[in-house]
Amino acid sequence: MEYKSIYIKTFGCQMNDRDSEALLGLFLDRGYIIATNPQEARVIFVNTCSVRKHAEDRAISFLGTLKKLYNEKPPVIGVIGCMAKYQGRRLIEKMPHLSIICSPSRLYHLPEYVEKVKNFGVKIIDTDDTQREEAFYESSFLLDKDHAQVVISTGCSNYCSYCVVPYVRGNLRLRKPQKIIEEVKRFIERGVKKITLLGQNVNDYVYKEENIDFVQLLEKIASIKEIKEIDFITSHPKNTSPRLFKVMAEYPNIKKHLHLPFQSGSDRILKLMNRGYTQKDYLLLVEDFYKIVEGSLSTDVIVGFPTERKKDFLKTKEVLEKVKFKYAYIFKYSPRPNTEAAKLTDDIPNSEKERRHKILLNLQKNISSLI
Ligand code: SF4
Repeated sequence: MEYKSIYIKTFGCQMNDRDSEALLGLFLDRGYIIATNPQEARVIFVNTCSVRKHAEDRAISFLGTLKKLYNEKPPVIGVIGCMAKYQGRRLIEKMPHLSIICSPSRLYHLPEYVEKVKNFGVKIIDTDDTQREEAFYESSFLLDKDHAQVVISTGCSNYCSYCVVPYVRGNLRLRKPQKIIEEVKRFIERGVKKITLLGQNVNDYVYKEENIDFVQLLEKIASIKEIKEIDFITSHPKNTSPRLFKVMAEYPNIKKHLHLPFQSGSDRILKLMNRGYTQKDYLLLVEDFYKIVEGSLSTDVIVGFPTERKKDFLKTKEVLEKVKFKYAYIFKYSPRPNTEAAKLTDDIPNSEKERRHKILLNLQKNISSLI
């Protein structure tokens, strides 16, 4: 019998982690076993991230190391995820040891593509952008048996000017509330106690046909008594509301923590970023959150966005000082392909980006140590 083993290396966000896990489930259902390292695998996927240049560089370097596995009996090597969508054919041209390139929308088809590569020696490039098949989520395989991540939507239609997500993951697409709840229940039957709901911006979830928005979906799931803890990621300040905070406060099983990226404290930069709120809006939202939920916050910040002057940077610093986040992910801006911000001159020198990055990191370190 043929030895069927699969290895997936994942870069990037929780959405990629969940995609890799669901993909492993598809292959396990077809008789594969999970290899603990690429050397032992007959099928290898690299699930890539394009949100920052650094993540892409790491994936390219890893793909390079796989070349040495390509000997008399080569494994099937595929690139999936964001970089596959945006680089497509160019990846195979640069790295002929790859056999499959597959966009995030088309992962369900990978078992069939692997068979085609094995049987006919073809190369497959599928960068289509379609609604994912529900069957992608049906295996219920989990790497952590206590914790399930459940995708409620894919893609994003917000087009923040620095962000590549709408171009590599497509526009926002919603799963049906019924399908999400069925998946949650399948996990509960397997003894899962903790659920994380995933979407690029969960607050964009409005399933019009059934008149259900994210807050109502969250309530429905929180009402399932077997669930001991629920959280969700990510929330966009422009459509996060006190209504959400009230539900967070009301249900004991909803985690009293919110990840609420503010990105910049300068209204001018926020406008250039197409974020749809001001520093004042953000701080009022935070005030409501602390009053209603009495929980903790975390955030994402970008320093060195094009044209960011000292006074813009000081506004960002001011938000960190005022809000006192439990933790913050602070990034140096790097232009991403196709985005609106990439058309602006990347005029902040790297040394200055480094300096601002370090100032905020040190500030946040002090704040985190006191919380
Ligand atoms: S909300 Fe903005 S930053 Fe978040 S994924 Fe969508 S476009 Fe990107």
